[in-house]
Amino acid sequence: MKSAMQIAADVRSGVSSASAELERTLAVVEQRNAELNVFLYVDVDGARAAASVIDSRIARGENVGALAGVPIAIKDNLCQVGIPTTCSSKILEGWRPPYNATVLDKVIAAGAVPVGKTNLDEFAMGSSTENSAFGPTRNPLDPSRVPGGSSGGSAAAVAADMTSISLGSDTGGSIRQPAALCGLVGVKPTYGLVSRYGLIAFASSLDQIGPFSKTVTDSALLLEVLAGHDPKDSTSLPEAAPSLVVHVDDGVAGKRIGLVRELYQGADDSVVASVHAAAQALRAAGAEIVEMSIPELGLTLSAYYLIAPAEASSNLARFDGVRYGLRVKADDVTAMMEATRTAGFGAEVKRRIMLGTYALSAGYYDAYYGQALKVRTLTIDAFARAYQQVDLLLGATTPSVAFAFGDKTADPMAMYLNDVFTIPTNLAGDPALSVPFGTGEGNLPVGVQLLGPGRSEAQLFAAARVLEIADGRP
Ligand code: GLN
Repeated sequence: MKSAMQIAADVRSGVSSASAELERTLAVVEQRNAELNVFLYVDVDGARAAASVIDSRIARGENVGALAGVPIAIKDNLCQVGIPTTCSSKILEGWRPPYNATVLDKVIAAGAVPVGKTNLDEFAMGSSTENSAFGPTRNPLDPSRVPGGSSGGSAAAVAADMTSISLGSDTGGSIRQPAALCGLVGVKPTYGLVSRYGLIAFASSLDQIGPFSKTVTDSALLLEVLAGHDPKDSTSLPEAAPSLVVHVDDGVAGKRIGLVRELYQGADDSVVASVHAAAQALRAAGAEIVEMSIPELGLTLSAYYLIAPAEASSNLARFDGVRYGLRVKADDVTAMMEATRTAGFGAEVKRRIMLGTYALSAGYYDAYYGQALKVRTLTIDAFARAYQQVDLLLGATTPSVAFAFGDKTADPMAMYLNDVFTIPTNLAGDPALSVPFGTGEGNLPVGVQLLGPGRSEAQLFAAARVLEIADGRP
């Protein structure tokens, strides 16, 4: 299908219209959503109204923005006024947000048309979308396999050609991992580059919103729209959005890129082969490849599974049967809260709340949460030292291609291990992206991961573009 860049150009020039582009999207959704379970809610009327406003503004000669008339899919942990927002949890049943997430306001201001809310692992906890209370999403490339997670619906929307772009959130890999499994570009921006206002919090010190797309340029285009300071998010960086699209073809000549052993060892042979082939392609484009080891990265999975649940146990305390969504009636308030949370949360969310509450409890705080914070500091320092030697880092995004339904549901650790390569950069707050490079088992796509220091998005896109071309997508 057309790229977002192309749709916006066609809509602006009158070759196409926002309404025509939307109807194409709605037709594909109609055809494939029942099978794939991508959208939990499609805002047909709202999207049609928004598209016709854009078309009449264009008819009046107005400049409607960089995403003029581009249909976009939104992960269902982002608030949109009046639209059911569930986080794929029963506990939010019936709740409709009274305000928009900042990223919603931004994409709308840029002319995009939000078409609906996509499926995810409940509260973004998972790597396969199998933890959704509303059933799993299927991978459009092979419906017997998972699309990855937690942003599996947003990845599948683009992989199934429903939309050219979508929004996800990445706390430990939830954009990059499904991007890899669905053959897409997916970006976890520098912490603070994109406002989290209106993103329902999982682990606030790790969460970032970012783009999915088929092309590197489309992700750069969307991230330019998303980025920039927001006074409503105190962790938002002070500066204006960076220019990214103009740097996409900068190349990698003269760059030093570290090939990090801990970011691919243990992966399937086909994945390791893709990472080495990607290193070769970057070298051929003029980069110097430096083989590196960052041993501290071996500690990050354990630290993440203390820090993220600790923050989640605190963030999810607000779902108490009083303020949002579900309420199970009981004799007194305490019993009501207990009954509501028992009925409303799924097994993985309960596991995280218990893990996190335990890690934070008096007597265990220093041994678990405190230790994990020390590992986080070691990780930040280790990445900073690496970036004194090289400009960017290269590794795998996931240990394997898309796996089959049920493969990893019996053992939580097996599922957690899927994020072993993506989690480190969330702890450091640095940006990273996944770009398709080569194929593995079943001819399914492999994603390679590029990582950089804070605010290095332009360089990451330029390196990803080199790989996109080398992989045969000029
Ligand atoms: N799969 C990881 C987890 O379950 C990461 C999820 C995410 O990035 N939201 O926590």
